Amino acid sequence: MANQLQPVRGTRDLTGEDAARHFHVVETARRVARLYGFSEWQTPIFEDTRVFSRTLGETSDVVTKEMYTFEDRGGDSITLRPEGTAGVCRAFITGGLTQTLPQKVFYAGPMFRYERPQKGRYRQFHQIGVELLGPASPLADAEVISAGWRILNELGIAKDVELHINTLGDAQSRTAYRAALVDYLSKYESDLSADSRIRLQKNPLRVLDSKAPEDQNIIQSAPKLYLSLTKEALSFYETLKETLQYRFNIPFKENPYIVRGLDYYNHTAFEFVTNALGAQGTVMAGGRYDGLVEQMGGPNVPGIGWGAGIERLSMLIAAPPVGAQPVAVIPMSAEFEGQALEILNLLRNGNIAAETGYSGNAKKRLERANKSGAGFAVLVGAEIKLKNLTDGSQEDVTAEMLVKRLGA
Ligand code: ATP
Ligand code: MG
Repeated sequence: MANQLQPVRGTRDLTGEDAARHFHVVETARRVARLYGFSEWQTPIFEDTRVFSRTLGETSDVVTKEMYTFEDRGGDSITLRPEGTAGVCRAFITGGLTQTLPQKVFYAGPMFRYERPQKGRYRQFHQIGVELLGPASPLADAEVISAGWRILNELGIAKDVELHINTLGDAQSRTAYRAALVDYLSKYESDLSADSRIRLQKNPLRVLDSKAPEDQNIIQSAPKLYLSLTKEALSFYETLKETLQYRFNIPFKENPYIVRGLDYYNHTAFEFVTNALGAQGTVMAGGRYDGLVEQMGGPNVPGIGWGAGIERLSMLIAAPPVGAQPVAVIPMSAEFEGQALEILNLLRNGNIAAETGYSGNAKKRLERANKSGAGFAVLVGAEIKLKNLTDGSQEDVTAEMLVKRLGA
């Protein structure tokens, strides 16, 4: 077929086992999030472009290179959301929720970034995430990290991931650090990549996030943010580490190179990373964003959260078990079709998954039921028989007995 339509580059269909893995991740996360007191929200997948451009930072990779931005028919600039936090905070403000604290939000859904597609990197990908709005205490950070850790545990992949944490300090620490960093980087300005030279002018911290090879040596020897931390920022970080270690028993490594790609983070930054996915090693990433809500025009409400790539998690987990297939209700001949439909309704009303073969003779339908992996077939004729498709055994039943017989 010469003109067969193809999926857009960087998008994937979720069918068969891919779908099973995907929804297993979402359902596991949803269950754990509820356990921690988070409620699920859904915000639109497109927003006013400024929701992202103003918050993610005009120099971030996401804003400069990766956003799907277009003008709609009314002339407004619209962007397909590249991440979840900005939209949740926008909804938090416009929904008038800023006086009802804390807000504990869970979300799951598609995100869009114009990136070079490769294993674990797509243009439409999906994230689960949580946001905890309100508390300024490091205990909130520990809770949020702990929820993520528990999800990874329940997905059976905690053994494959490492938690890396860092602190970005408070505003005062950042100002002091920024000065030290600019001092240092200016000496090497001509050796920096073109992107990093721009960042040095606009947002020097972002240089540390550069992946350009020519920047790596310079970054390695740059002054460490750690040395510019205020006493308050240090004590926040110490409390977080103690809580993770002694209260939640979560192993972690300190990693000073985690600065996170987005502008709005302060204090805690963390990532769960793995070696099992090649270059796409970060599966879950987050941090504290105390200035974000205010920057978006709301009151000063602190926040902390994380987002995790469902595709990357799906690749790490074992294939979820295939659940029991619906009971096959099969009329033995055309005259029993009506009775078969009645039994079908009876089973479904009794909360038992059931289907009929729609067409073909009884033999064909039974073959199909066997192939589908169904555990049982109900053969509807002058008598009704329940056939166990696993061992081939068969018993006479009445329609009334079926729900009880097949119920869990
Ligand atoms: P990376 O360094 O891999 O580009 P990032 O820092 O851009 O990641 P975040 O913005 O922190 O990623 O997003 C959180 C998570 O979302 C990532 O850890 C990853 O699991 C997932 N993710 C990000 N971009 C993609 C993508 N294009 N395709 C699939 N998953 C993605
Ligand atoms: Mg990225």
